[in-house]
Amino acid sequence: MIIILFGPPGAGKGTQAQRLVDKYNLKQLSTGDMLREAIAEGSELGKKASSIMDRGELVSDDIILSMIRDKLKESGSDGFIFDGFPRNLEQAQALDKLLHELKLSLDLVIEIVVNDEVLINRIENRARESKNARNDDNEEVLKNRLNIYHKTTEMIKPYYLKQRKLCKIDGMRSIEQVSSDIEGHLINI
Ligand code: AMP
Repeated sequence: MIIILFGPPGAGKGTQAQRLVDKYNLKQLSTGDMLREAIAEGSELGKKASSIMDRGELVSDDIILSMIRDKLKESGSDGFIFDGFPRNLEQAQALDKLLHELKLSLDLVIEIVVNDEVLINRIENRARESKNARNDDNEEVLKNRLNIYHKTTEMIKPYYLKQRKLCKIDGMRSIEQVSSDIEGHLINI
């Protein structure tokens, strides 16, 4: 099973992905987590990405695609969940090409819909809880991340609609309710 959890920053993609990992034996491929790991390790890639992430802008497609390519070749799971990837049309097209090369195919893109006001509240709360705080969890950067989401990332939706692979769920309910909706969509895969 190969699915994409799609949605704005703070929509709960990471939380939902973790629940699916255990239940369906999938590997979570979060490009944001991979980049934060690279920064923590002090690698060259991490150094390149760090200031871009702090501004809430998109890291180059080359960096992102090389990370994804490596991870997709790893075995040991029954599929993958992409979280935070793809974030623009070029990445979406490159993913299709990559999956085709590996004789794999994307099953479903699940959009978790949350309005901006709710997202801003959620991220402000995350910033307050120092344990989960991230460098890019502050109002100014969040606004930039949301802007990029609406201007660039959301433009991918017609691409997946055309492929009849996009479904939407209401992300403004409890974690359990959102999970159960997602699982409802996975039954037919
Ligand atoms: P996230 O954890 O998904 O919110 O990502 C945190 C930051 O990492 C983003 O604001 C971007 O700077 C960078 N990033 C994560 N995934 C991607 C991606 N697919 N393409 C470009 N930049 C990304």
